[in-house]
Amino acid sequence: MKPSAFAYARPRALEEAFALLEAHGENAKLLAGGQSLLASLNMRLATPEILVDIGAIPGLDGIAVKGKTLVIGARTTHRTIERSEAVARHAPLLAQAAPHIAHIAIRNAGTLGGSLAMADPAAEWPACCVALQATIVVASKKGERRIAATEFFKDLYTTALGPGELITAVEIPCAETDERHSFLELVRRRGDYAIVGLAARARVKASALSGVQLVFLGVGVTPVRAKAAIAALEGKTADADAVRAAQAALDRDLAPGPDLYTSADAKRHMARVLVARAAAALVG
Ligand SMILES: Cc1cc2nc3c(=O)[nH]c(=O)nc-3n(C[C@H](O)[C@H](O)[C@H](O)COP(=O)(O)OP(=O)(O)OC[C@H]3O[C@@H](n4cnc5c(N)ncnc54)[C@H](O)[C@@H]3O)c2cc1C
Repeated sequence: MKPSAFAYARPRALEEAFALLEAHGENAKLLAGGQSLLASLNMRLATPEILVDIGAIPGLDGIAVKGKTLVIGARTTHRTIERSEAVARHAPLLAQAAPHIAHIAIRNAGTLGGSLAMADPAAEWPACCVALQATIVVASKKGERRIAATEFFKDLYTTALGPGELITAVEIPCAETDERHSFLELVRRRGDYAIVGLAARARVKASALSGVQLVFLGVGVTPVRAKAAIAALEGKTADADAVRAAQAALDRDLAPGPDLYTSADAKRHMARVLVARAAAALVG
């Protein structure tokens, strides 16, 4: 299929983009890397009257360390994040996750902001942002607001973004020196969306875990923070008993539905496998 006809604008400033979003309301769509949006247009799942390309707006891309915060512009591509030394040092979870996103050609174009706005429950960045307790910075004609990643993903492909708002950046607390990270996922073929994935992080002192975060992708309509499994590992040394307790606790945390290829039981099993692997990686 071909997309329905649309107008195209390439504003040079945020204010111009806000004016276009206000003028066209729900009939305007922001265009970043186009890696998800163009497919939706071609299938006529989206039929906007205008695309507002944010590619020429200054200040929306790049990676910077500001004090103890890593700031990544919304238009920064997956590939730039993957290759960034600052990301590898201050947010190693993102560096581990990036190679799992599709293929290099898609990572060269797709952006952090586009992925977060899309809110695909099987995408890597949303789960990582929740695990890293990131803050999503959004802006509109009314000004700027900051939304905790834990509050940003509301439902399937649904976020806390309001009308006229766009994501400008993501703020991530820089990793502490005793922090460990593990990003794992199971896929049918390399480059596919994950069947089940896990973004994990914890501080490790004398082999004991604290500040544990376990956030799954592919098992719900949003990233799923596994609270009971987290409690089972918190303060423990990730020995066999603690790992078994965390695996058992997943039954309280996760209620995955089946998809075309994978049953709910298989997904639950995969989640248990990933928790054991992540616990080993965190203390390893
Ligand atoms: C074959 C294929 C495989 C893929 N596999 C994976 C995968 O394994 N994992 C994964 O995570 N992703 C995967 N993707 C999706 C890819 O990561 C996209 O890049 C990403 O989902 C969207 O980013 P984008 O910059 O291309 O956004 P676009 O496609 O341009 O936009 C996506 C949506 O976000 C909105 N948007 C874009 N930028 C902003 C902003 N700054 N503020 C507010 N709204 C905005 C747009 O209006 C649109 O609704 C895959 C894509 C393809 C084509």
